[in-house]
Amino acid sequence: MAMTGMQQSPEAEHRMPDVDTVHALLKQVADPEIPVLTIADLGVLRDVRVEDGRVIVVITPTYSGCPAMKAIEDEVYRVLRDSGLEQVEVRTQLAPAWTTDWMSAEGRRKLREYGIAPPAQSGRRAGALADARTVVQCPRCGSESTGRISEFGSTACKALYRCTDCLEPFDYFKCI
Ligand SMILES: [Zn+2]
Repeated sequence: MAMTGMQQSPEAEHRMPDVDTVHALLKQVADPEIPVLTIADLGVLRDVRVEDGRVIVVITPTYSGCPAMKAIEDEVYRVLRDSGLEQVEVRTQLAPAWTTDWMSAEGRRKLREYGIAPPAQSGRRAGALADARTVVQCPRCGSESTGRISEFGSTACKALYRCTDCLEPFDYFKCI
């Protein structure tokens, strides 16, 4: 007797997640405030693992109470669900706290190209303010002759600076 009914592809029926695929998919998840940066560039994406067929995604906010985290979490679920991964859990891990050192070299380059000065690499923990002695390089001309205009830039994560050489104002990613 011939087989009847629809043949379901085993792939569609039982899609086993693997860590590399999830990492590749999560490249679509950007910081809502700085869309050129993925959560991996930012160092917000801490871990991807598969436990009993379930995808666990671990994220750490750049600072506690960062309003972007809910949007990031929703986007992780959406991107993975769209690829057929239903068994997903996003875990927010607050300790150890995010540090500017977790931002990738690629992330720093993208920030600069976007016109935002990347955070000074001093291993400062989230919550530490850029003080007056922090050397902030102008993302446009590279000058270190810059001054802070305001502690608050376009979002809570940025401070407003101005370059005294090219005279352009710019945002500094201050990571508080
Ligand atoms: Zn400049």
